[in-house]
Amino acid sequence: MTMADGHGRDTGWEACVPSFPKLLVQVGASLHATLIIDSLGRILRMDHLLASLAGWGDGAGFEGRAFDEVLHRLPWLTQALHTALTGREAVCEGGAPERRLRALVLPVFEDGGLCLGACVRLSACEPERAESGQARDKLEQMVSLLSATFDSITDAVLVVSSNRRLIAFNKRFQRLWGLSDELLRGDPDHEKSLAFAMAQVKDPERFTARILEMYEAPEKEGVDIVELRDGRILERTTLPQWMGGTIIGRVWSYRDITAERRARLEQERAFAAEQHAREQMEESLALLDTFLNNAPIGLGFVDRELRFIRLNDALAALHGKSRHEEVGRTLHELSPRVAATVEPLLRQVLDTGEPIIGFDTALEVPPTPGQLRHWRVSYYPVRTTSGKLMGVGAVVVELTAERHAQVERERLLREAHEAIQIRDDFLSIASHELKTPLTPLKLHLRLLEQRCASSQPLSPQLARKALAQVDRLSGVISDMLDSSRIQAGLLELEREPLSLQELVRGAVADFRPHCPEHPLEYEECARRLVVRGDKGRLAQVLANLLENARKYSPLKGPIRVTLAQRGAEALVSVADRGIGIPVDQQAHLFERFFRARNAPISGFGGLGLGLYICRHVVERHGGHIWVESEPGHGSTFRFTLPVED
Ligand code: ADP
Repeated sequence: MTMADGHGRDTGWEACVPSFPKLLVQVGASLHATLIIDSLGRILRMDHLLASLAGWGDGAGFEGRAFDEVLHRLPWLTQALHTALTGREAVCEGGAPERRLRALVLPVFEDGGLCLGACVRLSACEPERAESGQARDKLEQMVSLLSATFDSITDAVLVVSSNRRLIAFNKRFQRLWGLSDELLRGDPDHEKSLAFAMAQVKDPERFTARILEMYEAPEKEGVDIVELRDGRILERTTLPQWMGGTIIGRVWSYRDITAERRARLEQERAFAAEQHAREQMEESLALLDTFLNNAPIGLGFVDRELRFIRLNDALAALHGKSRHEEVGRTLHELSPRVAATVEPLLRQVLDTGEPIIGFDTALEVPPTPGQLRHWRVSYYPVRTTSGKLMGVGAVVVELTAERHAQVERERLLREAHEAIQIRDDFLSIASHELKTPLTPLKLHLRLLEQRCASSQPLSPQLARKALAQVDRLSGVISDMLDSSRIQAGLLELEREPLSLQELVRGAVADFRPHCPEHPLEYEECARRLVVRGDKGRLAQVLANLLENARKYSPLKGPIRVTLAQRGAEALVSVADRGIGIPVDQQAHLFERFFRARNAPISGFGGLGLGLYICRHVVERHGGHIWVESEPGHGSTFRFTLPVED
């Protein structure tokens, strides 16, 4: 038996190795084997091609040597030979890239099954076949990549063919639905898996209805939510699977959104709670605002930088602004003048953490310049629940009206006391004035009575003296009545044209007998002065001034009466050199019941009504009355009256 080598040459090996089993060699020859080894790994035959591949120049001389030793440069082949010697056939490839070889290594057995050795048949790898191998490798690589990706994505994915067969699914899909390997083995049935899934969903009808709906509209895409009985929530997305322009199936993907949903629900609950809390806070603030803005007192809150955070209209009005203008601004910006007083108090509260309660102050505020207003202020530290000092709360109560009322009350009280004092003084003076003429009057009348009883001749002088006291009593009572009429607005005047010369001259003449010890002078105006007045009342004024001049000139100084013209007025003056009037008392001389302090009742009688009546009469005639006096040197009383042309 012969074997041809790769180049068709006859090697004649069987003659060289007669001891090796013939059968093995025959088989090798029939296979056109390049190499034949026996069961011990010894080379029976090897052609030139293999020898040159193994790095040997000539094919001869290898028989009987171990293939491991001869072919050590071709490990891809020696490995396959070892495999073959274990009884298994092997295919391997190797060689230079430009000339790759494929070896088919076959074990050879005898009839009894004993491995005799192995044969190698070499053939050149076809280039196109190598490329397709690479393509297959690449494809396998791609498939493995896709498969790994498919299994590692977080969504559970199922691909169903157009005829409702399960084409592909990833591990997550299997885990999500708890589908057993048995159920999915081979060519898994879509209906069976669907029935398995339906048992787990909360609403199976809706679940399947949606699937059917999608199968009926192959091009449709959709997203819906699937709730499972165990509480999980899945988001299901479905898309058609396209190949070229044709739909070949449908992809279903499920995403477990339970945690996401719960988180969202939790977030919504938290948001709702926050919203509720905010609404409650806004409600509370609205209530607080209503309370603040309707409070009749100033209320406000400043932060640690003394900026207004909140204040009511009553407080804002003190700075002459609206509360909206004031929020965020400091007191100093709003009113430096107010800040100068208030800021030290606010800082004291911030520094000490102690309140200032009921501090009374008087301040001028912008809306009422020039007016000092009174306030009672309280400042309280405001703290957070953790005790941190946030700012100062202010309560400002205006006391101006109260203070004015208090001042008014005090004035009225003082006046009441004065009125009581005046009344008491008046009663005392009036009693004195009424009683004083009564004693001599009684004396004169008793003397007259005694003389009548003893038939003594009656003295007309006694009667005159008695009458003088009656006149005095009558004068006091008249003054009192006139004062009451003036107070009630009932003093009537009977006006007529009067010659002032005649009037003054008559008054001086009437008075002269009553002051025999005082030199009495009268200087008259040459020009006739006519006034339109009440003769009796004007005569009463003159009599009063003359009587005072006499009464308050205890050293019997001269009394000088002057009548003069001053423009359109007549000017009448009565001057004396008596006790005079203290300067501070002169402004009050014409008030009712007023008596100067240098004219005690004990020394100088009088009710303090004469000058009051004089002023009223003169002013009713359109004139004016006043006094010029120097204490200790005398007084001059003057009055004017408008004269007629
Ligand atoms: P009276 O009856 O007390 O005199 P009047 O009203 O006539 O009341 O006078 C008021 C007061 O004015 C007098 O009590 C007196 O103190 C002062 N007075 C009036 N006239 C004179 C005067 N000529 N000289 C000094 N004081 C006078």
